[in-house]
Amino acid sequence: MAAVTPTLDEFAAEVQAFFDGVPALLDSVGGSQIDRARAYRAALFDAGLAGIGYPVEYGGRNLGIAHQDVFRQIAAPLQPPEESTFGIGIGMALPTILDYGSEALKARLLPSGLRGDEIWCQLYSEPGAGSDLAGLTCKAERDGDEWVITGQKVWTSGAQHSDLGILIARTDPDSPKHAGITMFVLPMHQPGVEVRPLVQMTGIAEFNEVFMDEARCPAEWVVGEVNHGWRLATALLAHERVSLGRGQMTRHAERSKAGRFPIPFEGLLERAGWAGRRHDPVIRQQLAQAYIGEQIIPWLTARRQHPSIGKLWRTIQGRLAADIAHELGGGAAIAWDRDDAEADYFAYHVLNCRGMSLGGGTDEVQKNTLGEHVLGLPREPGPDKNTPFRELLKN
Ligand SMILES: Cc1cc2nc3c(=O)[nH]c(=O)nc-3n(C[C@H](O)[C@H](O)[C@H](O)COP(=O)(O)OP(=O)(O)OC[C@H]3O[C@@H](n4cnc5c(N)ncnc54)[C@H](O)[C@@H]3O)c2cc1C
Repeated sequence: MAAVTPTLDEFAAEVQAFFDGVPALLDSVGGSQIDRARAYRAALFDAGLAGIGYPVEYGGRNLGIAHQDVFRQIAAPLQPPEESTFGIGIGMALPTILDYGSEALKARLLPSGLRGDEIWCQLYSEPGAGSDLAGLTCKAERDGDEWVITGQKVWTSGAQHSDLGILIARTDPDSPKHAGITMFVLPMHQPGVEVRPLVQMTGIAEFNEVFMDEARCPAEWVVGEVNHGWRLATALLAHERVSLGRGQMTRHAERSKAGRFPIPFEGLLERAGWAGRRHDPVIRQQLAQAYIGEQIIPWLTARRQHPSIGKLWRTIQGRLAADIAHELGGGAAIAWDRDDAEADYFAYHVLNCRGMSLGGGTDEVQKNTLGEHVLGLPREPGPDKNTPFRELLKN
């Protein structure tokens, strides 16, 4: 019998009831951030809220946009910071597999991914291929029922906790550079994969270098068609920009040193109070600007603008909020006491916000995309678009 679709009010009550129970759930789990993240995600799945728009056969609820918006509005301020552990799986890899994966791949990966059994990372950037991602040199060669993958990825967020990686690799160097690329799902726990953490200036190792030396990937774990991965790669990037552009000013995350969220306005206001500068006219103007920016983020999400607009806006907001925190912190914003949790939290954001302009594609690349795809400006010259990749000069 088909499930009855709840009214929006019924659904809102259901979502609210779930989130009311989350703090107690997280307290009861304890353990590491990853343990809590997995427990939170499993509870969300059991409550039928992990994949609201996904088909029922893959563990979803098959509900439409209106229900998804209700969930987002209620969940955004209440989601625990642990949810960011699943940002790449839930926000990017799973939607791409839903759109382009084979039935077998969907049945194998979607329910477990939604439940949080598997944590995902994104194996895209390489030392010589960032903005020019199609210049990647990591290669995959077919060997019987498997693909053998050799190459290096870099800036891979969360690889140290990941079970699976969504990988793009070159499968045909004789085709032009956009044509010979394939998308794979790579099992991370295997001898051919080595993950080396990179410590950022924040003092935290958020991302990693990933070395693949004849790593193995089952042939049926190719996403879409061999040599046609570029279209999927850009589709995944669009999902990434949508999720990075969403305004998630989470209540629980207010003091979290994780993810890529701008400092919430409330936090800045509080800090202005401690610094005795709430009546300082310059600070008041900056705070007003931060408030306006924070309000605009969810409106951009609701209007479903081009993904690059939301992504750019959140980056701008992140820098503005960090600059205000810096100004308010005075000397302590530059030379702070690590034992002072408040100063440490704001210093983290001052340093971390620079990376928001890079991760998910740089500001310049977002502007190029908007220029070409929204404003209809001429495309960037691409003299290498028809030359076999093997013959191109490499970075
Ligand atoms: C916090 C963070 C997390 C990340 N996580 C991941 C991850 O999980 N997985 C992953 O694969 N990658 C990840 N990245 C990498 C990120 O995608 C790249 O840093 C980004 O795409 C830029 O590439 P690049 O660093 O090689 O810089 P480059 O491409 O070398 O760019 C250098 C500079 O040149 C500018 N530039 C380059 N090309 C153009 C152009 N055509 N027009 C105008 N300006 C241009 C850029 O804007 C930039 O200012 C992450 C990065 C950060 C900072």
